Amino acid sequence: MFLILLFVFLISLFWGSFLNVVAYRSIHERSFFEPRSKCNFCNKTIPFYDNFPVISWFLLHGKCRFCQKYISILYPIIEILTAFILTSIFFKIFYFYGFFIFSINSIIYFISYIIFFSALIVATRTDLEALVIPQIFTLWLTPLGILLSHFDAIEISIYESVIGAAFGYSVLWLIAKIFTYFTQKEGLGVGDMELLAMIGAFLGPIGVWFCMLTGSFLGLITASIYIFATKKNTSTQIPFGPFLALGATIYFFFQDYFVCIFF
Ligand SMILES: [Zn+2]
Repeated sequence: MFLILLFVFLISLFWGSFLNVVAYRSIHERSFFEPRSKCNFCNKTIPFYDNFPVISWFLLHGKCRFCQKYISILYPIIEILTAFILTSIFFKIFYFYGFFIFSINSIIYFISYIIFFSALIVATRTDLEALVIPQIFTLWLTPLGILLSHFDAIEISIYESVIGAAFGYSVLWLIAKIFTYFTQKEGLGVGDMELLAMIGAFLGPIGVWFCMLTGSFLGLITASIYIFATKKNTSTQIPFGPFLALGATIYFFFQDYFVCIFF
């Protein structure tokens, strides 16, 4: 059992490495289909032995071999995060009573949720790096979530999926309007609403509601600590997307426990 999980973890590291590339190229408007990765500074092609997830970053002390410029720590963080999440999904979906049980249905489930979490991970990275969340990973995936629910490829029904998407988008839209009305400032980006629509399509109305409450709560605490610690003023923009993604992750893995607490 341990070996299977380790294998999944290692494969997932490479998937995380791919998500890094997707996130980076989508905010810097490069083609996804460039064959090889290049250094972001000196443009030299990165040799394959420098392109292993996590390990290469540490071996190179976080610097490019050629120009010695620092490579973002987001690379290894996203890779490790992806590996943990994918391995956990694998465990949640396939592990029962001491065995791994694979069926066509559960494999389809697994693929659907990999798409969902991959989008969340990419959104997290682009939001952390550039305060944007490209629509391809949110709004464009919302109909896919609804379609998957129709074909029983995710845990919720098509009604829950449609309501979840509409609810996620409109509630945050309403909050943003109220916020702007009182403060005369733009507090929440359209990117966050689109992200929440996508989360709603995959997790349903209860999921998206939970995700928004948890996300706001964690975001508010982190923002307060950040502002207090760095003594920056309150107008500092803080990415909200990663907190929503975190809320969605908590809901996905622990929803059964919350049901026990509330009912
Ligand atoms: Zn370089």
